[in-house]
Amino acid sequence: MDRRAKIVATLGPASSSADVLERLLESGIDVVRLNMSHGNQKDHRSLMRRLRRLARKQDRFVPVIIDLMGPRYRLGEVAKEPRILTAGQEVFLGTRGREGDLPIGDPELLGHLRAGERMLIDNGLVELEILSCHADGISTKVVHGGPVSTRKGINLPDTDLPFTISEKDRSDIAFALREGADFLAVSFVGGPNDLHAIRAVLRENGGMMPLISKLERAAVLPHLDATVEASDAVMVARGDLGVELPVHDVPVLQKKIIAAGRRVGKPVIVATQMLESMMTQPRPTRAEASDCANAVFDGADALMLSGETAAGAYPVKAVVTMSKIIAEAEAYRPPSLEDFSDRQTAPLLPGVSEQVNINPELDRNLEIPDVVSAAAVYATHRLDVRQIVAFSQGGFTARMIARYRPRTPITVFTRDPAVARRLQLVWGARPLLLEDDLQHHDQVVKLVDRRLIEADLARPGDAIIILMGVPIPDRPLTNLMRAHRVRELDKTEP
Ligand code: PGA
Ligand code: MN
Repeated sequence: MDRRAKIVATLGPASSSADVLERLLESGIDVVRLNMSHGNQKDHRSLMRRLRRLARKQDRFVPVIIDLMGPRYRLGEVAKEPRILTAGQEVFLGTRGREGDLPIGDPELLGHLRAGERMLIDNGLVELEILSCHADGISTKVVHGGPVSTRKGINLPDTDLPFTISEKDRSDIAFALREGADFLAVSFVGGPNDLHAIRAVLRENGGMMPLISKLERAAVLPHLDATVEASDAVMVARGDLGVELPVHDVPVLQKKIIAAGRRVGKPVIVATQMLESMMTQPRPTRAEASDCANAVFDGADALMLSGETAAGAYPVKAVVTMSKIIAEAEAYRPPSLEDFSDRQTAPLLPGVSEQVNINPELDRNLEIPDVVSAAAVYATHRLDVRQIVAFSQGGFTARMIARYRPRTPITVFTRDPAVARRLQLVWGARPLLLEDDLQHHDQVVKLVDRRLIEADLARPGDAIIILMGVPIPDRPLTNLMRAHRVRELDKTEP
């Protein structure tokens, strides 16, 4: 099955055994997420090592995302839980420890709260309005009642909260570097400065790694483009986003965030509740199936499973189900976009933006690698191309090709296993490791033919498009497109 959008699976108690992990890999997970809001470093470390061993055994590149807890606030220890709050009731939250009060886990939060702001508990199920603020707590009125219990999450959509990096986050950042994780996911990003702050902590620890911005706060939206630009990838973190903002805003925000990522070739992950009902049932709801397919239609690079694979009853089934939904969605193309070859006029980079129906901004202010990548995609509309092959040192060319979502498979050669792993987050990219030390582009062509035939990705006579930067020893960005028919292997050569 040729699936192009990727699957990120969150690992947890339901998926940490070697047996389940192995089956998840076989079912087609591309990327793994470890959520530092749960579990401890020791368990995450052994899980990562187990995963690496199994991935090696299956000859797969599987990158690991370490997802920081970030400035997430919680209730403290609730006595006699669950406490049922009823609408209209007044309740004091704070540190006084009086009978009937609700405890706040992080007292430093109190300094930021103002009367009139909303406080949401447990994914927004319970809503309070802040009536007045005091040194030791806040008085509130219950707007929407419900049960509350120990350590339930708190969201403050109206509060001007600073982005803070806790001791736990610092320790988890050091952990991610030590264990050689591939991405750091940054929760509750408010703008580019928060990413600079995380990078400063990475530098203090003597390293650097790609950052995935989790877009889940209202405050980040005015800075969406700048935040995407400052990120290596982004996540539509619909869980918290749908609490911080009205839930009816989420579908449109998903489309806007995906478009913003695609415009600059940054991978976009759509996350949370994608197959939620599969936590407890072997089949998803029809709405969930449609949601996964629509994330593909919106142009997501990757779809993420959270509780479904971390703590659900059917982790492997969830991956198999998601994989099939994605593949069906990708096989479908609206007929009106289908056939470019009938067009008479040929604008600059004809067909590319119309074909994939994306923002025309994409075709403006292009650099050489963008133009060459776009030309490669254009060529696939004119020629029956079997593979687009890119040589990529950092993955940039692959992202530039992928943002056009070509129907032709994208194979990316890289020398660096870390780059090969990171490419797994990019829509449609299939990484292959390149050990040979090449000097001239004729050698490149020979090598490509051999590797594609060996991997059964092309046969002699197939047209392929090869992208590279020449002269090779100078390692420039992509500047050359070569259209070529795969030749028979020369059996006399070693
Ligand atoms: P979380 O992030 O699962 O770490 O909270 C994703 C989201 O909020 O949707
Ligand atoms: Mn979140």
